[in-house]
Amino acid sequence: MAFEKERELMVETQIKARNIKDKKVLEAMLKVPRHEFIPKQLLDEAYADYPLSIGNRQTISQPYIVALMTELLELNKDKIVLEIGTGSGYQAAILSKIAKKVTSIERIDKLSSRSRNILKKYKNIKQIKGDGTKGYAKGAPYDAIIVTAAAQEIPKALIDQLKEQGILVIPVGNQFYQKLLKIKKTKNRLIEKHVCDVRFVPLIEG
Ligand code: SAH
Repeated sequence: MAFEKERELMVETQIKARNIKDKKVLEAMLKVPRHEFIPKQLLDEAYADYPLSIGNRQTISQPYIVALMTELLELNKDKIVLEIGTGSGYQAAILSKIAKKVTSIERIDKLSSRSRNILKKYKNIKQIKGDGTKGYAKGAPYDAIIVTAAAQEIPKALIDQLKEQGILVIPVGNQFYQKLLKIKKTKNRLIEKHVCDVRFVPLIEG
């Protein structure tokens, strides 16, 4: 099947069917060629309904989880986003279609350089090699922050670098399962919502 057709099917049966409604998210999932972010030997499975291995013991998330996390960030063309865990670069590419600017941090050298190369044509993405638990103060404050690896607790730097009224989406828990949290930063406190349970590779400090 042609990739474009596979994307249409993916959006209908995996994303819309599970109640993702934000038109900007659906549009981005239709447009971004997910297969370009996948190792060649897995091309047949590029649009399948599960995560895939991208090497270095890391994974590209299931399409539905990418769509869900993106929708939770409540983005539009005015928003500045920080992503922790570039991995394949696919999530960053989705964000870049909807937001004004995306900064994405990856701690593994090989994944950082590979994704930077694939993301070259996305002009509003800046890929950085580093430890995302520290955030990226130079680009702060952010309207939205997305963490695509499992944190044991919420890194304080990320809260500090979030704007007031900004949204942080992060899986928090142990190595086996995590709660996907949507956190809104208000003047006096953090408003936390448990969206669902998920399983991500660990966020590793340093
Ligand atoms: N968003 C990715 C999925 C990445 S999987 C995609 O669309 O493909 C999680 C990634 O987080 C892995 O690549 C892992 O190396 C990275 N990671 C783990 N700890 C990190 C840290 N402290 N800082 C930056 N990246 C980290």
